[in-house]
Amino acid sequence: MSEKPLVPTALVGAARALGATARGLALDLAAGVATAAEVARPSSVGTSRGLSTVRVRVLILSDERGSPLTTPDRLTGSLDLADRVFRAQAGIRVRCERIDTVTGPAPTAALDPRANRLLLLDDILGRTSFYREYLAARSPLAVVGDPVTVVVVRNIAGRTTGCSLGMTADWVIAEASLFDSARPPQFDETVLAHELGHALNLPHHRDRANLMFPMSSPPDQLRGTGLRRWQAALLHANRHTVPPVRRVLAPG
Ligand SMILES: [Zn+2]
Repeated sequence: MSEKPLVPTALVGAARALGATARGLALDLAAGVATAAEVARPSSVGTSRGLSTVRVRVLILSDERGSPLTTPDRLTGSLDLADRVFRAQAGIRVRCERIDTVTGPAPTAALDPRANRLLLLDDILGRTSFYREYLAARSPLAVVGDPVTVVVVRNIAGRTTGCSLGMTADWVIAEASLFDSARPPQFDETVLAHELGHALNLPHHRDRANLMFPMSSPPDQLRGTGLRRWQAALLHANRHTVPPVRRVLAPG
């Protein structure tokens, strides 16, 4: 077996992460400028102009024996909650366009990833390549509207149950137990929407009633699903969010 040399892999990974961040920042700025006039008038959010759309895909991994970590129907509650919350408070519908199950066994490192900065490090070191193999192929010409992919993993290190790399990546991870209503201490339908919020650039919020409150402890201390107006504005100023009216740009 051959070990990949660490340094070149890290350099490629760092370049990729930096490139993705720069690309994300540029696209978010462009999307933000394009919608700034609209979000400055909150009355236009989700009213007569119709709803904006964020596309979501789900990737369910299978364990070392090839058993899927969860089933597509178990995800319905979390996806519906995300759609309800974003729709009602930001005028954005969350459209799940596909749920795929990777039937072959995933490597343990992909099933049980690390969180936050360590996940970013792993991404830079190329240890998240298993996810990226299956992520939506991105058209080099697509400017806005790339989907966000939710990768369902088995166990994230520490007490974290979901994790996003923010604008660095078009994917987030979520533990399978979040979607299992038979496991009340883990079952938490707010996490998918929370991680989508991060993927769409929302930072944490200190109000427990807010969707972006960092802690959620089911079954008693679930975080809320509230969104402030400025958070709704940020969600619209994002490359994943497609406005209701499609504009066709002339070449050149
Ligand atoms: Zn968070």
